[in-house]
Amino acid sequence: MAAKPFASSADLGVKEQTLEVLADGVYALTAEGDPNLGAIEGEDFLVCFEALATPVAARRWLAKLREHTDKPVRYLVLSHYHAVRVLGASAFDAEVVVSSEQTRHLIEERGQQDWESEYGRMPRLFEEPESIPGLTWPTMTFRDKLTIELGGDRGELVLEFLGRGHTEGDIVAWLPEQEIVFAGDLVESQAALYTGDAFHFDWAAGTLDRVKALGAQQLIGGRGAIARGRDQVDAAIEQTRDFLLTMQRTVGEAHRSGGTLKDAFAANHEALAPKYGAWPIFEHCLPFDVQRLWDEFSGIERPVIWTAERDRQVWDELQG
Ligand SMILES: [Zn+2]
Repeated sequence: MAAKPFASSADLGVKEQTLEVLADGVYALTAEGDPNLGAIEGEDFLVCFEALATPVAARRWLAKLREHTDKPVRYLVLSHYHAVRVLGASAFDAEVVVSSEQTRHLIEERGQQDWESEYGRMPRLFEEPESIPGLTWPTMTFRDKLTIELGGDRGELVLEFLGRGHTEGDIVAWLPEQEIVFAGDLVESQAALYTGDAFHFDWAAGTLDRVKALGAQQLIGGRGAIARGRDQVDAAIEQTRDFLLTMQRTVGEAHRSGGTLKDAFAANHEALAPKYGAWPIFEHCLPFDVQRLWDEFSGIERPVIWTAERDRQVWDELQG
């Protein structure tokens, strides 16, 4: 069998971006499995959610958004630290860049390595990479919850850390009046999960329970289609959980029975592929996902930092 091309390095097909209006002044951009974005209008300002991988990529989203509103961006909210979500931040000219404290710490600790790793894995998303001015630094952080009053009769936007999950610091953006949640990479709707920096056990239990308990009628996940209505929202959450629990079962069995990492990968691939194999980034994510869960079963509390070099090593061992 020919070796699979590294991560998403051979994925060069351009995805179609679609701006959808979810409620008065609430927007989402979906892109056929590429990272999603959002924007929420305040009375005289905008809150943007996520920033894509480069300013050039972000500017195309902003041009679409500007067909609907010309309000200035007061807040740019980062759901977590991953490069393809944050390095386009300078395009927004935001007054304030908001994240959890944990995310700011992760940018300090591993932002540079993550940038290099993600660029190698997903080069297509890094449109004109030289337009990135450097790491993105949040200028306002919070531990658990931050509420932004939107003004007029627009209600409020609640930014909330619901527990460790896709990373140590993911937050969601919740509109209680409109019953819309931007869940970042904590929930994927018809896209594979990246769990290479995850806390699988926390995520599959309390964290997803708390996302579900919000009771959203519309959910925008990190990638994939928008879930509309409680049935679809719950289905997206439960699909995310099923992916995580299947991983825990297969990788856990291999770990307990004295198998190798490669055994764990094979068992996990076999269990997940019938349901999830055709979804975006499945083959790309799986080696990194299994390595991190293996580490968790081995008692390694915090994710080992991914570098371009470690990426290749794990890939060659499991997918090579
Ligand atoms: Zn991510």
